[in-house]
Amino acid sequence: MTIVTRFAPSPTGRLHVGNIRTALHNWLLAKKAGGRFLLRIDDTDRERSREEYVEAIRADLDWLGLTPDGEYRQSARFALYETALERLAAAGRAYPAYESAQELELKRKVQLSRGLPPVYDRAALALGDAERAALEAEGIRPHWRFKLDHDTPIAWADGIRGAQQLDPKLLSDPVIRRADGSWLYMLPSAVDDIEMGVTDVIRGEDHVTNTGLQLQMFAALGATPPRFGHEALLTGSEGKLSKRLGSLGVDAMRDDGIEREALIAKLARIGTSQPVEPVTDAAPLIAGFDLSTFGRAPARFDMAELETLNTRIVHQMDFDRVADRLPAGMDAAAWEAIRPNLAKVAEAADWWAIVQGPVTHRADPADRDFLNAAADVASAIDWSVNPWGALTAGLKGDTGRFGKTLFLPLRLALTGRASGPEMAALLPLIGREEAVVRLRAAAA
Ligand code: GLU
Repeated sequence: MTIVTRFAPSPTGRLHVGNIRTALHNWLLAKKAGGRFLLRIDDTDRERSREEYVEAIRADLDWLGLTPDGEYRQSARFALYETALERLAAAGRAYPAYESAQELELKRKVQLSRGLPPVYDRAALALGDAERAALEAEGIRPHWRFKLDHDTPIAWADGIRGAQQLDPKLLSDPVIRRADGSWLYMLPSAVDDIEMGVTDVIRGEDHVTNTGLQLQMFAALGATPPRFGHEALLTGSEGKLSKRLGSLGVDAMRDDGIEREALIAKLARIGTSQPVEPVTDAAPLIAGFDLSTFGRAPARFDMAELETLNTRIVHQMDFDRVADRLPAGMDAAAWEAIRPNLAKVAEAADWWAIVQGPVTHRADPADRDFLNAAADVASAIDWSVNPWGALTAGLKGDTGRFGKTLFLPLRLALTGRASGPEMAALLPLIGREEAVVRLRAAAA
């Protein structure tokens, strides 16, 4: 059987680390099994859904390389949900209810004050035809509830949490359609999972109760449910995932110089027993993906750790992968020379500006003769092989300087900075003529 997974975001905001992780895990599961990964836009909430977010979700997934094998939108599928509701109603598994939000709130308060669980009392089920007609004659439109089967315990083998059980008597019959005809998430999601042949669902553990309710919907609709795995939520470095991090869009991270490879390497392994490694290729992440390595404890997402991973990934990135983000004229040799010094690809431009010059540095008076001697040596040596080696070897012999007193004045004169990429790699990029100009200028 082909494995089918889906990522089902609501287009009410940009994708952030939490939902990218969900998307990634569903993608990894599908790829590992040679299956299909679907994107389902959960846009039943017309008030809060925005077309710009639908486009942003597609663009973000595309940037991350999590390209879906198919895309669906719930707003185009209302007829299917309608049919499912009719079937459930005909089978006595869905019923109209007329309580207002205020009435329901009052019932809850009374139950809580009596120490009872705030479970919907099914008063609407007791209404007769005449009572319903009377309410409707008053202009009250019903909302619809799914009727839970109280006699069948809810149980499933969760791919991450292990054996799960819920007592349906402790759950309210979920509202599946509002009085204005709009759909809540629960039934459409179950209908779509059936209709799209979804075999596996990985989602956050905030959905555990929903899964219990939806398992009864699958059964009531005569369908085999997908396998479910609920992952522990992400937390920030100080407990709960901060507002800022929780809502920090993938677009903001990208603009801040986080590479897709870093986000993927981090989010693939965070919260699992497998190490987070600076991999630039998804293949090992696909091959190693395994729900049994997922922990039950909330996983700590730390931006500083992501930055460190990002740096290690930048140091491995090939020129071809970054060429379109480098300043004009910067070639593969320059990239490789500068790369080990970068935390972010965008910083390459700063070093490229230094290579190109002009660089102005006024040397310590004590170094001026030394730098003039360096200019002489630089003019004379064979530049074609290893000019930095030739320059420093020549100067060592001529001046007797070594170590820091040899290297630092040269670096300062040639780059204007006390540290940076290997001079052996930088000097050929600067070129003989320009190097001589800088050495003389610093000595002047
Ligand atoms: N739209 C739902 C959400 O974003 C989908 C949950 C699910 O995966 O079924 O929470």
